[in-house]
Amino acid sequence: MDTLRTLPGDDVRQIMWRFTDRYDIQMVVQSARSLARGLVARLVAEGARKTHEWTDHKAQLLEAFDTSGLTALFMDPHQGGFIDGPKNLALALVAFELAWVDAGAATCSLATNLALAPIHERGTTEQRDEYMGRCVPPLPGEDRAPFRGAFALTEPLPYVGVETNTLVGKLRVAKWEEGEEPILQVDKRGRFITGMDFANFATCAVDTDDPRIKSSCIVIVEDTDPGLFDRGAPTLKMVHQLSSTRDPVFNLQVPASRIVGGYTVKDGVIVPNFTHSEIIGAVFHRTRVPVALMTTAKLLSAVEPVIRYQRQRFRGGDASEPGTSKYELGLQAKPDSVLRLVDIWAAGEAGASLGFATARLFDQLDPTEKEKDRVFAERGVCGAKSQLTALRKVEKQAIEYLQMEAAPTRDEARFAELGQDTLVRFALLESLANILCPACKLWNTGNGANVMREALALMGGYGITEDCPGFLFYKWTDAQLEATYEGPEAVQRRQLSITMTNEVFLARLRIIIDQFMALGESKPETGAAVVAKGLALWLWTIEFLHRAKDPSGARLYHNRRQNVTFPMADALCWLMASYCQIGDVMELAEKGPENAVVAEGLEGTLGFFTDLSLVQAARAAGEASRVCASMVYGFGPQAAEELDAFDALRSQLDRSMAGAALAKDRAAQALTQVMIPEALDYPL
Ligand SMILES: Cc1cc2nc3c(=O)[nH]c(=O)nc-3n(C[C@H](O)[C@H](O)[C@H](O)COP(=O)(O)OP(=O)(O)OC[C@H]3O[C@@H](n4cnc5c(N)ncnc54)[C@H](O)[C@@H]3O)c2cc1C
Repeated sequence: MDTLRTLPGDDVRQIMWRFTDRYDIQMVVQSARSLARGLVARLVAEGARKTHEWTDHKAQLLEAFDTSGLTALFMDPHQGGFIDGPKNLALALVAFELAWVDAGAATCSLATNLALAPIHERGTTEQRDEYMGRCVPPLPGEDRAPFRGAFALTEPLPYVGVETNTLVGKLRVAKWEEGEEPILQVDKRGRFITGMDFANFATCAVDTDDPRIKSSCIVIVEDTDPGLFDRGAPTLKMVHQLSSTRDPVFNLQVPASRIVGGYTVKDGVIVPNFTHSEIIGAVFHRTRVPVALMTTAKLLSAVEPVIRYQRQRFRGGDASEPGTSKYELGLQAKPDSVLRLVDIWAAGEAGASLGFATARLFDQLDPTEKEKDRVFAERGVCGAKSQLTALRKVEKQAIEYLQMEAAPTRDEARFAELGQDTLVRFALLESLANILCPACKLWNTGNGANVMREALALMGGYGITEDCPGFLFYKWTDAQLEATYEGPEAVQRRQLSITMTNEVFLARLRIIIDQFMALGESKPETGAAVVAKGLALWLWTIEFLHRAKDPSGARLYHNRRQNVTFPMADALCWLMASYCQIGDVMELAEKGPENAVVAEGLEGTLGFFTDLSLVQAARAAGEASRVCASMVYGFGPQAAEELDAFDALRSQLDRSMAGAALAKDRAAQALTQVMIPEALDYPL
């Protein structure tokens, strides 16, 4: 039987991650890759990470981002960008490519986008065009430097992290002449602010400290505004040293037109159109996805250096002769070495599938969200709370649509009517995005950091040296930052604990279970049945936790019970990652034969990816099963009939894992045979 011949190339990835027909995105990927494996790799190899300061050495990155097109990627064509429409997938792929070598460089390239994100998501049209336009690199003949930005939410201890109900940064009215635009006093201290060494502007979250300002908001400050724009001390961080981080202090006067999203004046009070938390919700929704993929890139980038290390381990000296298994296979002659590498690769695939699926979903959600806002504006539904109430009313229709979509026959007229309803479409996409976004941020980074430790372990002592190929040690420690910033793990779990019980999402889950059960019957080798059984067990447990009580009579599923909600959130992440991974394998099976390059050797590639899917599905279902059992039994005793029902489902799940260990053996065997290039394509 054919087996994996070479490491998967671009043609395979373009199919799996669905950008075969997007030449614009393919070009951006190439630019990011050559920058990563050129300048970024050189900077790391030359020791640029060894100082906390932002140096001229590191600053070469900024110009390289400009000239390679990465700076302008976030902008629309009329603002000086080159990709029309949503860019979530493009940005995610760029972060992935850069983080393949160094995630600090990836973060550095995204920092201005993060600063622009509040303006992009909720700014007025004028604010959007002005700031996006100024951040684009100058065209030939233009005499200006590109504007760069920083996003300042978090504040010095003991104040806010990223979930932020509290803000200490303040906004007051400094001057307000009759008939004139108010001038505002911004007083904000930031903590751990990325890009602060070279930022010309910052988008700052501030609370009102004036009865003439109604609520919190995000306000834009610039380095030329009157007052103090102090970049502050550099953070003495030991990760992501190729991005700049400082603790700035701002005390500046700005016109009220700098309030992101604008304001109205009502009875002499400035009413910002959006509070800071409304804006932050929309921002992090999108920007967390590339962060998730940064950690994933590290896992997949570790495969090649580890294989090379394992194979060459005993070459040279008198240790072995060419032709012997010790010489040819090195450590790969030992099953555990390759089996553990399979786990790393499988986790990387699942993370990539989950992350890129999320990025693509946001590309669909973006235009739908704009359309939803337009519909609400027409109907006079203003403010986040009113929108939420209105959206709740369409949940039933969204569920009806999902059920019709999955049914073999349906009332086509009704189906079309629901499908064309903007609010229904929005509810469907949003309910899934509300799961996938925190799931990939949480699982790809948190679990990814653990798995990255394994990659390092496979390098033995070499792994913790500076000359470990692929910068694996840096990648491991960097992963912890990705699990921390833009909301540490608890923040993602908190979000999931609310969104994962949304009825539209649960209705979708029931359909996924049915579909994956059917897929598992026709293609048991994919692990689809394992995921289906895992999801069924998870769903049963969630329903159980809603009706069950502990011996003191307290409800089990409750937002203050993080020992219930958080593990259940983790369990769901494992399963959703596997669900997405199987989806990508099915896509490769369907579209691979149409591509001449991929078709050559497809059987081996597909067989390998299918084995990885089953390995990962069994691991994910095992995690979910462990968590569910600890919920059902751990807070008991519970009624015998509840336990019997649970045991029956759990036993079905265990049985569905038949063959998973054999799949792992096959994948490990493939790793001993796959061809790799002579040398890594970037320096030590
Ligand atoms: C290098 C770097 C760059 C950064 N860049 C930026 C930037 O550009 N802009 C910006 O605004 N911020 C930035 N940050 C800040 C970053 O977003 C915060 O560090 C992060 O959100 C975590 O907040 P914290 O450090 O206050 O941790 P804490 O909130 O103190 O969390 C500590 C621990 O407690 C847990 N925890 C927190 N809340 C809860 C809860 N409710 N329930 C249970 N457990 C909880 C957390 O998961 C974590 O494990 C950056 C940070 C770093 C280190």
